Amino acid sequence: MNARFIIICFVLALGLGYLFRTKPEAIQGNPESTPFESPVAVQTLPKPTVAPQVSGVVPPVIHPLNAPLPIERPQATLPGKRVNPRYLNKPKDMSVEFEMINGLAVAYGDTILGKPVAGFSESRGISDLSPAKYWDHGVVPYLIKNDVVDPDRVLRAIDYFNQHTHVRFVPYENQPDAILFQVGEENCLSFLGKTGGVQPVFLSDKCRTPEITHELMHALGFVHEQSRADRDQYVEILWQNIEEKYQPQFAMVPEPLMNAYYDSPFDSGSIMMYGPHVFSINPEVNTMRLKSGQPLKSIPDTLSPSDVDRVNRLYP
Ligand SMILES: [Zn+2]
Repeated sequence: MNARFIIICFVLALGLGYLFRTKPEAIQGNPESTPFESPVAVQTLPKPTVAPQVSGVVPPVIHPLNAPLPIERPQATLPGKRVNPRYLNKPKDMSVEFEMINGLAVAYGDTILGKPVAGFSESRGISDLSPAKYWDHGVVPYLIKNDVVDPDRVLRAIDYFNQHTHVRFVPYENQPDAILFQVGEENCLSFLGKTGGVQPVFLSDKCRTPEITHELMHALGFVHEQSRADRDQYVEILWQNIEEKYQPQFAMVPEPLMNAYYDSPFDSGSIMMYGPHVFSINPEVNTMRLKSGQPLKSIPDTLSPSDVDRVNRLYP
Protein backbone atom coordinates (compact mmCIF):
# COMPACT_ATOMS: atom_id res chain seq x y z
CA MET A 1 0.00 0.00 0.00
CA ASN A 2 1.63 3.22 -1.07
CA ALA A 3 1.42 6.66 0.54
CA ARG A 4 -0.72 8.11 -2.25
CA PHE A 5 -3.40 5.46 -1.73
CA ILE A 6 -3.44 6.16 2.03
CA ILE A 7 -3.91 9.93 1.43
CA ILE A 8 -6.83 9.27 -0.97
CA CYS A 9 -8.49 7.03 1.64
CA PHE A 10 -8.05 9.70 4.33
CA VAL A 11 -9.65 12.41 2.16
CA LEU A 12 -12.56 10.09 1.28
CA ALA A 13 -13.13 9.31 4.98
CA LEU A 14 -13.22 13.02 5.82
CA GLY A 15 -15.75 13.67 3.04
CA LEU A 16 -18.03 10.82 4.14
CA GLY A 17 -17.82 11.95 7.75
CA TYR A 18 -19.01 15.44 6.76
CA LEU A 19 -21.86 14.09 4.63
CA PHE A 20 -23.22 11.80 7.37
CA ARG A 21 -22.59 14.05 10.38
CA THR A 22 -25.37 14.15 13.05
CA LYS A 23 -27.70 17.11 12.58
CA PRO A 24 -29.06 18.85 15.70
CA GLU A 25 -32.60 19.03 14.32
CA ALA A 26 -32.63 15.28 13.81
CA ILE A 27 -32.03 14.79 17.54
CA GLN A 28 -34.83 17.22 18.39
CA GLY A 29 -37.30 15.22 16.36
CA ASN A 30 -36.26 11.81 17.61
CA PRO A 31 -39.50 9.83 17.70
CA GLU A 32 -38.19 7.68 20.57
CA SER A 33 -38.51 10.68 22.85
CA THR A 34 -42.29 10.84 22.45
CA PRO A 35 -45.24 8.51 22.92
CA PHE A 36 -46.69 9.68 19.62
CA GLU A 37 -45.92 8.06 16.33
CA SER A 38 -45.02 11.19 14.43
CA PRO A 39 -41.95 13.21 15.38
CA VAL A 40 -43.62 16.22 13.73
CA ALA A 41 -46.05 16.31 16.66
CA VAL A 42 -43.20 17.07 19.02
CA GLN A 43 -41.63 19.72 16.87
CA THR A 44 -44.86 21.66 16.48
CA LEU A 45 -46.13 21.52 20.08
CA PRO A 46 -46.29 25.09 21.34
CA LYS A 47 -44.30 25.90 24.44
CA PRO A 48 -46.39 26.90 27.46
CA THR A 49 -46.15 30.58 28.15
CA VAL A 50 -47.11 30.40 31.82
CA ALA A 51 -45.41 28.20 34.39
CA PRO A 52 -47.80 25.53 35.67
CA GLN A 53 -47.51 26.61 39.30
CA VAL A 54 -49.00 30.03 38.52
CA SER A 55 -52.59 30.21 39.73
CA GLY A 56 -55.35 31.27 37.41
CA VAL A 57 -56.37 29.76 34.13
CA VAL A 58 -53.44 28.20 32.31
CA PRO A 59 -53.37 28.81 28.55
CA PRO A 60 -54.34 25.79 26.50
CA VAL A 61 -51.78 23.37 25.15
CA ILE A 62 -53.19 22.33 21.83
CA HIS A 63 -52.02 19.24 20.07
CA PRO A 64 -51.90 19.92 16.34
CA LEU A 65 -52.19 16.40 15.03
CA ASN A 66 -54.47 13.45 15.42
CA ALA A 67 -52.74 11.41 18.08
CA PRO A 68 -53.60 7.73 18.00
CA LEU A 69 -55.32 6.07 20.93
CA PRO A 70 -52.23 5.13 22.85
CA ILE A 71 -53.09 1.78 24.29
CA GLU A 72 -55.08 -1.29 23.75
CA ARG A 73 -55.49 -2.75 27.18
CA PRO A 74 -55.73 -6.50 27.39
CA GLN A 75 -58.21 -6.43 30.27
CA ALA A 76 -61.18 -5.95 27.98
CA THR A 77 -60.56 -8.96 25.83
CA LEU A 78 -62.79 -11.46 27.58
CA PRO A 79 -66.31 -11.54 26.21
CA GLY A 80 -68.79 -12.91 28.69
CA LYS A 81 -72.49 -13.31 28.97
CA ARG A 82 -74.52 -10.60 30.59
CA VAL A 83 -74.88 -10.80 34.36
CA ASN A 84 -77.50 -8.93 36.28
CA PRO A 85 -75.65 -6.27 38.28
CA ARG A 86 -77.45 -7.33 41.42
CA TYR A 87 -75.22 -10.38 41.36
CA LEU A 88 -72.19 -8.15 41.03
CA ASN A 89 -73.11 -6.35 44.22
CA LYS A 90 -70.35 -8.00 46.17
CA PRO A 91 -67.70 -8.84 43.59
CA LYS A 92 -65.14 -11.25 44.93
CA ASP A 93 -62.68 -10.61 42.13
CA MET A 94 -62.01 -7.81 39.66
CA SER A 95 -64.83 -8.76 37.30
CA VAL A 96 -66.96 -5.92 36.03
CA GLU A 97 -69.70 -5.73 33.45
CA PHE A 98 -69.02 -3.43 30.53
CA GLU A 99 -70.98 -2.00 27.63
CA MET A 100 -69.58 -0.99 24.27
CA ILE A 101 -69.53 2.78 23.71
CA ASN A 102 -67.90 4.18 20.59
CA GLY A 103 -65.83 1.04 20.15
CA LEU A 104 -64.58 1.03 23.74
CA ALA A 105 -65.45 -1.27 26.62
CA VAL A 106 -66.91 1.01 29.30
CA ALA A 107 -67.93 0.10 32.86
CA TYR A 108 -70.04 2.12 35.31
CA GLY A 109 -71.26 4.38 32.51
CA ASP A 110 -68.05 6.32 31.92
CA THR A 111 -65.02 4.27 32.97
CA ILE A 112 -63.03 2.97 30.01
CA LEU A 113 -61.59 -0.53 30.32
CA GLY A 114 -60.03 -0.54 26.87
CA LYS A 115 -60.59 -1.78 23.35
CA PRO A 116 -61.80 -5.34 22.95
CA VAL A 117 -59.89 -7.63 20.67
CA ALA A 118 -60.76 -7.60 16.99
CA GLY A 119 -63.82 -9.66 16.27
CA PHE A 120 -65.63 -8.96 19.53
CA SER A 121 -69.11 -7.96 18.40
CA GLU A 122 -71.25 -8.13 21.55
CA SER A 123 -72.76 -4.97 22.98
CA ARG A 124 -71.93 -6.06 26.53
CA GLY A 125 -69.53 -8.33 28.33
CA ILE A 126 -67.67 -9.16 31.50
CA SER A 127 -64.04 -8.31 31.96
CA ASP A 128 -61.44 -7.76 34.62
CA LEU A 129 -60.61 -4.29 35.83
CA SER A 130 -56.99 -3.65 36.75
CA PRO A 131 -56.24 -2.04 40.09
CA ALA A 132 -55.78 1.65 39.41
CA LYS A 133 -52.31 3.17 39.23
CA TYR A 134 -51.75 6.68 40.43
CA TRP A 135 -49.85 9.71 39.13
CA ASP A 136 -46.27 10.08 40.32
CA HIS A 137 -45.95 12.95 42.79
CA GLY A 138 -49.51 14.03 41.93
CA VAL A 139 -48.32 15.64 38.69
CA VAL A 140 -50.59 15.10 35.67
CA PRO A 141 -49.34 16.37 32.30
CA TYR A 142 -52.19 17.21 29.93
CA LEU A 143 -52.88 18.38 26.42
CA ILE A 144 -56.04 19.32 24.59
CA LYS A 145 -56.60 18.48 20.94
CA ASN A 146 -57.34 21.47 18.81
CA ASP A 147 -60.77 20.22 17.71
CA VAL A 148 -62.13 20.16 21.28
CA VAL A 149 -64.84 22.82 21.40
CA ASP A 150 -64.49 25.40 24.18
CA PRO A 151 -61.20 24.30 25.73
CA ASP A 152 -61.84 26.79 28.54
CA ARG A 153 -64.29 24.32 30.11
CA VAL A 154 -61.34 21.93 30.49
CA LEU A 155 -59.02 24.62 31.78
CA ARG A 156 -61.52 25.67 34.44
CA ALA A 157 -61.63 22.10 35.78
CA ILE A 158 -57.84 21.86 35.72
CA ASP A 159 -57.49 25.23 37.41
CA TYR A 160 -59.86 24.12 40.15
CA PHE A 161 -57.72 21.07 40.96
CA ASN A 162 -54.56 23.16 40.84
CA GLN A 163 -55.98 25.73 43.23
CA HIS A 164 -57.80 23.46 45.67
CA THR A 165 -55.83 20.19 45.80
CA HIS A 166 -52.25 18.97 45.93
CA VAL A 167 -52.57 17.59 42.39
CA ARG A 168 -50.86 19.64 39.70
CA PHE A 169 -52.02 19.48 36.09
CA VAL A 170 -49.13 20.74 33.98
CA PRO A 171 -48.82 21.35 30.24
CA TYR A 172 -47.52 18.37 28.32
CA GLU A 173 -43.84 18.51 27.42
CA ASN A 174 -42.99 15.00 26.33
CA GLN A 175 -43.56 13.44 29.75
CA PRO A 176 -44.09 9.67 29.42
CA ASP A 177 -47.59 9.74 30.96
CA ALA A 178 -50.25 12.32 30.19
CA ILE A 179 -53.96 12.96 29.68
CA LEU A 180 -55.11 13.85 26.18
CA PHE A 181 -58.49 15.59 26.08
CA GLN A 182 -60.16 14.70 22.81
CA VAL A 183 -63.58 14.78 21.18
CA GLY A 184 -65.97 12.01 22.13
CA GLU A 185 -69.25 11.24 20.41
CA GLU A 186 -71.85 11.64 23.14
CA ASN A 187 -70.29 10.82 26.46
CA CYS A 188 -67.64 11.98 28.87
CA LEU A 189 -65.30 9.02 29.32
CA SER A 190 -62.07 8.37 31.20
CA PHE A 191 -59.85 5.51 32.25
CA LEU A 192 -59.61 4.79 35.96
CA GLY A 193 -56.29 6.07 37.29
CA LYS A 194 -53.10 6.27 35.27
CA THR A 195 -52.76 3.73 32.50
CA GLY A 196 -49.22 4.58 31.47
CA GLY A 197 -48.58 6.47 28.24
CA VAL A 198 -50.87 9.15 26.87
CA GLN A 199 -54.41 8.26 27.90
CA PRO A 200 -57.56 9.85 26.49
CA VAL A 201 -60.36 11.67 28.26
CA PHE A 202 -63.19 11.82 25.74
CA LEU A 203 -65.43 14.88 25.82
CA SER A 204 -68.61 15.44 23.90
CA ASP A 205 -69.90 18.98 23.47
CA LYS A 206 -72.25 18.31 26.40
CA CYS A 207 -69.46 17.76 28.92
CA ARG A 208 -69.30 20.89 31.04
CA THR A 209 -66.69 21.81 33.62
CA PRO A 210 -68.45 19.82 36.42
CA GLU A 211 -68.56 16.66 34.29
CA ILE A 212 -64.93 17.17 33.28
CA THR A 213 -64.01 17.56 36.96
CA HIS A 214 -65.82 14.26 37.58
CA GLU A 215 -63.91 12.54 34.77
CA LEU A 216 -60.62 13.84 36.13
CA MET A 217 -61.49 12.29 39.49
CA HIS A 218 -61.77 8.98 37.63
CA ALA A 219 -58.41 9.63 35.96
CA LEU A 220 -56.93 10.28 39.40
CA GLY A 221 -58.21 6.88 40.59
CA PHE A 222 -61.65 7.46 42.14
CA VAL A 223 -64.86 5.56 41.39
CA HIS A 224 -68.51 6.56 41.69
CA GLU A 225 -69.58 7.12 45.27
CA GLN A 226 -72.65 4.89 44.93
CA SER A 227 -70.40 2.11 43.62
CA ARG A 228 -68.06 2.08 46.61
CA ALA A 229 -67.56 -1.36 48.08
CA ASP A 230 -68.99 -0.12 51.41
CA ARG A 231 -71.97 1.73 49.96
CA ASP A 232 -74.58 -0.67 51.36
CA GLN A 233 -74.00 0.84 54.78
CA TYR A 234 -75.04 4.27 53.52
CA VAL A 235 -77.31 4.02 50.53
CA GLU A 236 -80.06 1.75 49.28
CA ILE A 237 -80.19 1.17 45.54
CA LEU A 238 -83.80 1.17 44.32
CA TRP A 239 -83.25 -1.27 41.45
CA GLN A 240 -86.90 -1.27 40.42
CA ASN A 241 -86.64 2.46 39.65
CA ILE A 242 -83.57 2.18 37.40
CA GLU A 243 -83.83 1.57 33.68
CA GLU A 244 -82.55 -1.94 33.12
CA LYS A 245 -79.80 -0.99 30.69
CA TYR A 246 -78.39 1.44 33.26
CA GLN A 247 -78.49 -0.96 36.21
CA PRO A 248 -74.83 -2.04 35.76
CA GLN A 249 -73.85 1.55 36.53
CA PHE A 250 -74.98 0.95 40.09
CA ALA A 251 -72.91 -2.20 40.66
CA MET A 252 -70.32 -2.10 43.43
CA VAL A 253 -66.65 -1.92 42.54
CA PRO A 254 -64.20 -4.64 43.56
CA GLU A 255 -62.71 -3.99 46.98
CA PRO A 256 -59.13 -3.26 45.75
CA LEU A 257 -60.39 -0.12 44.03
CA MET A 258 -61.10 1.31 47.46
CA ASN A 259 -57.36 1.55 48.13
CA ALA A 260 -57.42 5.10 46.77
CA TYR A 261 -59.68 6.27 49.56
CA TYR A 262 -57.47 5.82 52.63
CA ASP A 263 -60.58 5.35 54.77
CA SER A 264 -62.15 8.58 53.52
CA PRO A 265 -65.79 8.14 54.58
CA PHE A 266 -68.78 7.84 52.27
CA ASP A 267 -69.94 11.27 51.10
CA SER A 268 -73.33 11.64 49.45
CA GLY A 269 -72.29 15.20 48.47
CA SER A 270 -69.30 13.98 46.43
CA ILE A 271 -68.97 15.00 42.79
CA MET A 272 -68.71 11.24 42.21
CA MET A 273 -72.23 10.59 43.57
CA TYR A 274 -75.07 10.36 41.08
CA GLY A 275 -78.06 12.61 41.66
CA PRO A 276 -81.37 11.09 42.84
CA HIS A 277 -82.99 10.85 39.41
CA VAL A 278 -80.06 9.86 37.22
CA PHE A 279 -81.08 6.89 35.01
CA SER A 280 -84.45 6.51 36.71
CA ILE A 281 -87.41 5.06 34.79
CA ASN A 282 -89.43 8.11 35.68
CA PRO A 283 -88.34 11.59 36.76
CA GLU A 284 -90.75 11.34 39.68
CA VAL A 285 -88.91 8.47 41.37
CA ASN A 286 -85.46 8.20 42.91
CA THR A 287 -82.89 5.57 42.05
CA MET A 288 -81.27 5.68 45.49
CA ARG A 289 -82.22 6.43 49.08
CA LEU A 290 -79.79 7.50 51.78
CA LYS A 291 -80.00 5.29 54.85
CA SER A 292 -79.44 8.35 57.03
CA GLY A 293 -82.88 9.58 55.98
CA GLN A 294 -81.37 12.76 54.56
CA PRO A 295 -82.55 13.76 51.07
CA LEU A 296 -80.17 12.95 48.24
CA LYS A 297 -79.05 16.15 46.53
CA SER A 298 -78.21 16.80 42.90
CA ILE A 299 -74.67 16.31 41.64
CA PRO A 300 -72.57 19.27 42.81
CA ASP A 301 -70.64 21.48 40.40
CA THR A 302 -67.32 21.22 42.20
CA LEU A 303 -65.43 18.90 44.49
CA SER A 304 -66.95 18.47 47.94
CA PRO A 305 -64.70 19.06 50.98
CA SER A 306 -64.23 15.32 51.34
CA ASP A 307 -63.43 14.98 47.62
CA VAL A 308 -60.63 17.48 48.19
CA ASP A 309 -59.57 15.62 51.32
CA ARG A 310 -59.39 12.22 49.62
CA VAL A 311 -57.49 13.64 46.64
CA ASN A 312 -54.98 15.10 49.07
CA ARG A 313 -54.71 11.85 51.03
CA LEU A 314 -53.92 9.95 47.84
CA TYR A 315 -51.62 12.67 46.52
CA PRO A 316 -50.05 14.18 49.66
ZN1 LIG B 1 -68.16 8.78 36.36
